[in-house]
Amino acid sequence: MASKRQIFVGGVPIGGGAPVAVQTMCKTETANLEATMEQIRTVADAGADLVRVAVPRDKDVEALRTIVKDSPIPVIADIHFNHTLALKAIDAGAHCIRLNPGNIGGPEKVAEVAERATKASVPMRIGVNSGSLPKHLHALERENSVEALVQAAVEFVEMMERLDYENFKVSIKSTNVPNTIASNRLLAEKIPYPIHLGITEAGTKWSGSLKSSVGLGTLLADGVGDTIRISLSTFHAEEEVKVAWEILKALQLRERGPVLIACPTCGRLQFDMDTVVAEIERRLEAYEEPIEVAVLGCAVNGIGEASHADFGITGAKDEGLIFAHGEPLRKVKQEELVDALFAEIDKSLDRGEVEVDAGEAAEGADWLAKIEEENAGELTPERIAAMEAAAAEREDADVTAPGGPDVPEGEPYLKPVKAGAGNSAKRVELDEQSSPTAGRRFSRS
Ligand code: SF4
Repeated sequence: MASKRQIFVGGVPIGGGAPVAVQTMCKTETANLEATMEQIRTVADAGADLVRVAVPRDKDVEALRTIVKDSPIPVIADIHFNHTLALKAIDAGAHCIRLNPGNIGGPEKVAEVAERATKASVPMRIGVNSGSLPKHLHALERENSVEALVQAAVEFVEMMERLDYENFKVSIKSTNVPNTIASNRLLAEKIPYPIHLGITEAGTKWSGSLKSSVGLGTLLADGVGDTIRISLSTFHAEEEVKVAWEILKALQLRERGPVLIACPTCGRLQFDMDTVVAEIERRLEAYEEPIEVAVLGCAVNGIGEASHADFGITGAKDEGLIFAHGEPLRKVKQEELVDALFAEIDKSLDRGEVEVDAGEAAEGADWLAKIEEENAGELTPERIAAMEAAAAEREDADVTAPGGPDVPEGEPYLKPVKAGAGNSAKRVELDEQSSPTAGRRFSRS
């Protein structure tokens, strides 16, 4: 369930059914204007809707005045312990103030900030962290940490309501994934305000992305959460934005750019698919359209489960097939596969439709049929899945009306984009360490 209330941070709606907003936080010293603005532009290009900057000193407030004017996206000032910095940040034009009412020096100071924020129509994010709950909740925390987190958040919400200030979103932050899930579920039942989701100190790009995907993904799948921030231990804040978008795209909550589908490879693989997938992923970064591109490691399964993709390739030993919407387009040599795939994507995006050469398509279809026939007896993971799906469909058909289950209609996404956008940069090269070929049916030499 989306939050009932909606607030606006700059022009970005949060909550009340608005798309889940992606935010991140600059890793730069805020007072270093040049570095901070560069990072803000980078994260905005990567798809951040909002950006937060730390404001621990007066010179950061000074920089904030320029940052809010020059930033392409709304800026949230992150304040701890010092309420005068919150007041100054509001005066400097911050689009939102993040503060923890529990560490700002008492209710009078919270009231002062709320009054100033009301006058300036500036929203706030108020929140609690698992590490800094108010003293009176410590006993409850030992007994039930989830209850304690939610209780603290609800008390802050009530405090703001008593101050007649309701222009806020709420966050409960914990390093513990199950506690984050449980506390935010409970919070969403108790308050109508938008909820900010994040896993505090989630970790490195690898572990942090996984923890965040599990924690935030679970909540978002439940409909809980109106804005998300992925916290990763990397200077490159744009990586946080990319992970956030992958989570939203995986849950089909928002669309942005292409979706890449790739088989996991197995002992049937006969070409360097790791390099091909890395190359395709890199080139797709230049595209804005939500096209779906599939890469299959072998042609044993035909186009199979990738037939819904807008484009795809399936490789064999020396050759591969390019396909679009489940239909073969043409067969090409292995080393030309990626270039040929992007040539087809660019052509189609320019024309608004896929161009099919009947002769080449028939040649590709024959090639595919031959490989499928040669390997007809192999029970691949995809064939087993297809058999299971067919069996399930038969079961469904037995209990539904004649004609079986409805097939949803999907329109391919094709609209003009700069031709060749993805083909200019140099090729990706993977080495043995990052992607070993030893023990597999291909080499890179
Ligand atoms: S059988 Fe499936 S997983 Fe194995 S290489 Fe072929 S497409 Fe990939």
